[in-house]
Amino acid sequence: MNCTTPVYLDYNATSPVHPDVLEAMLPYLTDRFGNPSSIHWAGRQVKGAVEEARERVAQLVNCRPVEVVFTSCGTEADNMALRGTVSASRGRGNHIITTVVEHPAVAETCRMLEREGCEVTRLAVGRDGLPDLAELEAAICDRTILISAMFANNETGTVLPAAEIGAIAVRRRVPFHCDAVQALGKIPVDCQTLQAGMVALSGHKIGAPKGIGALVVRTGTRLHPLILGGSQERNRRAGTENVAGIVAFGAACERAAATLAEGAARMAALRDRLEEGLLRTVPDVTLNGHRERRLPNTSNIAFHGAKADSLLASLDLEGIAASSGSACSSGSLKASPVLAAMGIAPEAAAGSLRFSLGPETTVAEIDRVLALLPGIVARLRSS
Ligand SMILES: *Cc1c(COP(=O)(O)O)cnc(C)c1O
Repeated sequence: MNCTTPVYLDYNATSPVHPDVLEAMLPYLTDRFGNPSSIHWAGRQVKGAVEEARERVAQLVNCRPVEVVFTSCGTEADNMALRGTVSASRGRGNHIITTVVEHPAVAETCRMLEREGCEVTRLAVGRDGLPDLAELEAAICDRTILISAMFANNETGTVLPAAEIGAIAVRRRVPFHCDAVQALGKIPVDCQTLQAGMVALSGHKIGAPKGIGALVVRTGTRLHPLILGGSQERNRRAGTENVAGIVAFGAACERAAATLAEGAARMAALRDRLEEGLLRTVPDVTLNGHRERRLPNTSNIAFHGAKADSLLASLDLEGIAASSGSACSSGSLKASPVLAAMGIAPEAAAGSLRFSLGPETTVAEIDRVLALLPGIVARLRSS
């Protein structure tokens, strides 16, 4: 890496822990070490902090605190929603409806459930990344036990019509699980509006550390636990609580609630600066995903005739961290299933990069990318 300050534009992968969040959690890694289930002073000291954090998470997503179940991450929350619903629905059906653009936390769980005997319908999406709601209506049958659809896509930032899906689910009396991990802190996530029985959240995408998430389980939702043991989280998720992580998640949610609107406007302006700059200076560039219905921080851009891994390596040499729409497995890049599902040509998908901005992103950082990337693309296209 060269000597200039690094530029981090991969906030959809993870975000740095915010200093205020770190400060809030630190006492729970040192002095306040008790187990919240203990009734002595050490336990009492931390029990209140866990419940306060639960209130902060609930406040951000407009649900009741008792409906927040803390998990080890967003992936666990998704696994719990899917497997817990299937387990609680024995005898009433085995059909799950989901979309082709889900995060692996949902997609891979659905694949395994399919091998275990479930029937899975995956709704297609258009070029804009949105599913057809008429297709959803048509897919629902009397064996349907769950609809699982994400709120915002992690690769393209496209915002799915989650509230409309929720309304259909309520009308057809099918439980709805919404993976809102990528939407949280970037656009309003309101459990009442979404009408979802379950909503998956994660801490590390919004300035809390890795290893803490939550599944909102609305009152009345039938769900079996994924992890069995003690009676933590009202018997819905056993295991001694990650107290420091929970406190941090609460602090991050409180911050997100206070800064959401202003942060979104700031990020959208910087994202537009990046996109307009690249469209102006680099030939043969297209934007992937819906033009309006999208997160304020995410830009997925196809550099036709270039290879994403080479682009990323060249950017990395300049200290710029971005991402491709592809999952890197054992050193070989395979095309992103999300971009493929949107009907984006393999050639364009292979040259697509995701830039995801955060609250800390600056104009200078965007301008550094704008100064370097056109030259990198030109060089790689001609090589
Ligand atoms: C990151 C992410 C997850 C997984 O969350 P972790 O806390 O990293 O396990 C799930 N769904 C979406 C949409 C995500 O972006």
